[in-house]
Amino acid sequence: MTEPVLSVRNLKVEFATRRESLRAIDGISFDIAKGEVLGVVGESGAGKSVTGLAVIGLIDPPGRIAGGEIRLSGLRIDDLPPEEMRKIRGKRIGMIFQDPLTSLNPLYRIGDQIVETIKTHTSLSDSFARKRAIDLLAEVGIPAPDKRIDGYPHEFSGGMRQRVVIALALCAEPELIIADEPTTALDVSVQAQIIALIKRLGRDHGTAVMLVTHDMGVIAETCDRVAVMYSGRIAEIGPVQEVIRNPLHPYAKGLMGAIPTLAGDAHRLIQIPGAMPRLSAIPRGCPFNPRCAQAFERCTIERPEPIRKDTQAVACHLFDVTESAA
Ligand code: SF4
Repeated sequence: MTEPVLSVRNLKVEFATRRESLRAIDGISFDIAKGEVLGVVGESGAGKSVTGLAVIGLIDPPGRIAGGEIRLSGLRIDDLPPEEMRKIRGKRIGMIFQDPLTSLNPLYRIGDQIVETIKTHTSLSDSFARKRAIDLLAEVGIPAPDKRIDGYPHEFSGGMRQRVVIALALCAEPELIIADEPTTALDVSVQAQIIALIKRLGRDHGTAVMLVTHDMGVIAETCDRVAVMYSGRIAEIGPVQEVIRNPLHPYAKGLMGAIPTLAGDAHRLIQIPGAMPRLSAIPRGCPFNPRCAQAFERCTIERPEPIRKDTQAVACHLFDVTESAA
C-alpha cells in the first residue's frame, strides 16, 4: 500500500482552563491518500476545525496536542519546532479558510502576494514567478488574469477572492490542502464553482484535500470519503456515497437525513433532538447517548471504539457483533 499523504493516529487535543483540562479531540485516527478529498463534517463544536488546526500546527495555547501522531508523507509533524512547522505550512500544506480576507493582505496587490509566496517556496526569478502567478490565476478561473493580477483584494468579489486564495494555496504545489468551510461565506451559485475547483485539485495536481464543513451537501458534491465527527471523536468514516446511502451510526443517519435536495425539499430535513454537549459536560460512554433513540445501558458506561463494517468504520456498540453473539 502506498503511504498516505496525511496520517493521523489517536490524536488528542486539550484546552486547559483554570479548573480542568477539556478534551476537544479525543483519540481520532484517519488517513488521506494522494489525490483524495476527505470531508470532515459535524455540527459546530464537534472538533472538525480543531482537527484542521492541529494538522497545520496552529493550535494556540491554552490548547495543545495532548497525544497521538500526525504524519505528512511519513514525516512526523506534530512534534516539530514552530520554525520547522512554519516552513511546512504554505510549502507542503496549503490552507483555505472561510474568509478569504484572513489569507489576503488588503494593502497589497494580489499579484505581489502570490509572487512573494511563490518566491518564498521556489527558486523562480521575479518574471517567472509572475508568469506562474498568472497561470495559477487562470487555472482557478480568474478572467483576464494578466490584468487582474495587479488588482487589490477589495476589487474582487467574495467568490473571486476565494479563487485567489486557492491560487495562493497552490503556489508551492503542496501535498495537502486544508480547506475550512471554504464556501460558507459565498452565494450558492459561487459555492458550486468553488466546490468544482477544489475537486479538480485532487484530480489534476494529486493534492490530498481535507475539507472541513458543517454542510453535508458540500461533502456529497466534493469528497471521496467522509469522516463524521461528534464530540471530538469520529462517529463514522467511509466512502462518501456509502455513508450517504447507508449511514450506520445513529448520528450519521440523522445528519444524512438533513442533506437538502437540489429541489430544495425541506421535508427531508430531519432534526436530531438535543444539542452537542459542551466540552465540560461530555457524557460518559458514548457522547451521543443522551440524543440517541437506540441507546442502551452499555452506551452510558463504555466508550464505543471504531468497528470496521466493509468499507466503513463506525464507533457504535450496536455494531459490536462479539457483544451480541455473547
Ligand atoms: Fe447510540 Fe449507543 Fe450507538 Fe452511541 S453507542 S450511537 S448511544 S447506540
